Amino acid sequence: MRVSNLFMPTLREVPSEAEISSHQLMLRAALMKKLASGVYNFLPLGLRVLRKIEEIVREEMNREGAQEILCSALLPSELWKESGRWEVFGPEMFKLYDRNGREFCLGPTHEEIFTDIVRNEIKSYKDMPLNLYQIQTKYRDERRPRFGVIRSREFIMKDAYSFDATWEGLDESFDKMYRAYNRIFKRCGLDFKAVEADTGAMGGTGSLEFMVKSDIGEAEIVFCDSCDYAANIEAALTFDIDVHKNEEFKDIEKVETPDARTIEELIKFFNTTPDKFAKTLIYKADDKVVAVMVRGDRDVNETKVINHLKCINLEMADAEIVKKATGAEVGFAGPIGIEVDELLIDYEVKNIVNMIVGANDTGYHLINVNYGRDFTGTVGDFRNVTENDKCPRCEGKITINKGIEVGHIFKLGTKYSEMMKATFIDEKGEEKPIIMGCYGIGINRTMAAVIEQNHDEKGIIWPMSIAPFKVIVVPVVMKDELQVKTAEEIYEKLNSMGIDVLIDDRDERAGVKFNDADLIGIPIRITVGKKIKDGIVEFKLRNSPDTLEMKVEDVYNKVK
Ligand code: ATP
Ligand code: MG
Ligand code: MG
Ligand code: MG
Repeated sequence: MRVSNLFMPTLREVPSEAEISSHQLMLRAALMKKLASGVYNFLPLGLRVLRKIEEIVREEMNREGAQEILCSALLPSELWKESGRWEVFGPEMFKLYDRNGREFCLGPTHEEIFTDIVRNEIKSYKDMPLNLYQIQTKYRDERRPRFGVIRSREFIMKDAYSFDATWEGLDESFDKMYRAYNRIFKRCGLDFKAVEADTGAMGGTGSLEFMVKSDIGEAEIVFCDSCDYAANIEAALTFDIDVHKNEEFKDIEKVETPDARTIEELIKFFNTTPDKFAKTLIYKADDKVVAVMVRGDRDVNETKVINHLKCINLEMADAEIVKKATGAEVGFAGPIGIEVDELLIDYEVKNIVNMIVGANDTGYHLINVNYGRDFTGTVGDFRNVTENDKCPRCEGKITINKGIEVGHIFKLGTKYSEMMKATFIDEKGEEKPIIMGCYGIGINRTMAAVIEQNHDEKGIIWPMSIAPFKVIVVPVVMKDELQVKTAEEIYEKLNSMGIDVLIDDRDERAGVKFNDADLIGIPIRITVGKKIKDGIVEFKLRNSPDTLEMKVEDVYNKVK
């Protein structure tokens, strides 16, 4: 590509609306242009970077056996009503009508759509595992669009959805995505960390966020200085509780209580004495925080659950432990916080097998426990952890940092398959809901995060892997025939080697060309100046101040 032909309207001034470096640089380096609040058009350089990130994502997804499809962004309301999320999304969803008054939305995410695509096709456990993904435009009417494409209202997301017949299968699908995500963000040149996340509005049983460490990040991440514990602040909730330790608790440990409640009794219990139940929620035994959990199928009133999920902390660890301890599907499990009494009313709790008490640790769970007889306690309010709190895993010192969420992997479980009746026949011939996971990466947010971590006062410093061009060849004096001729030769040769190369053939001063090359962040600059008379050119890396002089012939090996 010739810079003289390149559509690259760089800006000298820092745009006033851009508060952070990546936003400023994406506008100044002509990667994109603003169209409306939180809406951007991508220009040639920016689009090349987007496509390169997408290609890395595609390669790593395909490597783990995921298959690419492409869905529409224009989505009929029916599927969302089926899952209960038409109302839940609230003002973040762009809603619109067709000429006949049919309701649509512009997809903010695609769980319902993918579930619908597979639900009539997956019939047997033999049709799974399956992982489908797309790289597609999403729409979210964010309350506060800001920082350019870090929080925009239209953005490209890679979203993948896995379908499994067993919980072990889901774990495997999840691990595959975990591996793929680590490779993707590494290849993009990011300094990142996977942190435990709360399962929030999506519902589900386990989730990890991929966080890029950055002071401008809107997310807060809790790290342990001694062990590998890392969680986002919402997942690292803690509580100060009023402990009513029941002396008898120790006695019932590992004891199967003979008069365990029957299903009918429990349902009655929840329906009639929610207050009493709420009071049984949290207490402490042997210095372990202990919580009551309820297990069963449920019908969900989504709106209310969303509100409740904000104040409770569902933890994968617990669901897993309960699953192992009882060998049963876990509908709902976790340390339960405030408002759980309401939660239990909202969940129409069905098929409760037993009540489980336990700490967030293996071996600290008891089944068939009865409130009152076996223990009592009161509910405390959850609060965010501070640096004065200790690591929940090893009691070590914790640090809180800011981060940008670039990716998110999530064990959905059977939430969508149950609501949308996506079932399959298992090995025993029984009909079961498909077990799902979902996995997202923000492509343009990733691009901005790379710039946040890789820039200096002159501009962007692209990692080789996603740079719009790898090399820029700069003839210093355009009137010098030898300089221009050699620069053209180098450009042609690199092109023929399949390397993305620019030649700055504009009739501009060298200083202008160097500034632009630095601003747009091209990793390698080859300058053809006076010394070309002796066959010598300058070779400079964007991320190093040093300039090397070398023979023209040596350039090609160096660039490869
Ligand atoms: P956030 O917490 O920042 O609002 P999210 O948790 O709502 O993000 P997800 O639903 O997990 O986002 O979507 C998957 C990925 O899509 C995110 O990890 C992020 O990289 C990207 N993403 C989400 N919202 C936006 C946005 N408004 N602009 C750009 N990228 C976004
Ligand atoms: Mg969001
Ligand atoms: Mg988030
Ligand atoms: Mg998320």
